[in-house]
Amino acid sequence: MAMCPICNAFRELEMNCSTCNAQLEDMGKVSDYLDPYGHYNDVDTVKMGDGYMHTIEEQTCPHLMYCKNCDRNEVTFIQEV
Ligand SMILES: [Zn+2]
Ligand SMILES: [Zn+2]
Repeated sequence: MAMCPICNAFRELEMNCSTCNAQLEDMGKVSDYLDPYGHYNDVDTVKMGDGYMHTIEEQTCPHLMYCKNCDRNEVTFIQEV
């Protein structure tokens, strides 16, 4: 079974903000942040909801990355191995 190397701490996720180029913080799997009460209100992320159907087929793990500088989130898909 494929495993996400980030979730399993095989390696660290290093990504830079596409806006300001600061290092992003890995906030963990997106699914940990989605809740049915809508506390999490980033429109793009909510819109995708748990509709990550391609993550099963392509064996990718969606991670939430956070930029402190811009106070915004990005979702990145980690290839599972
Ligand atoms: Zn993961
Ligand atoms: Zn930024």
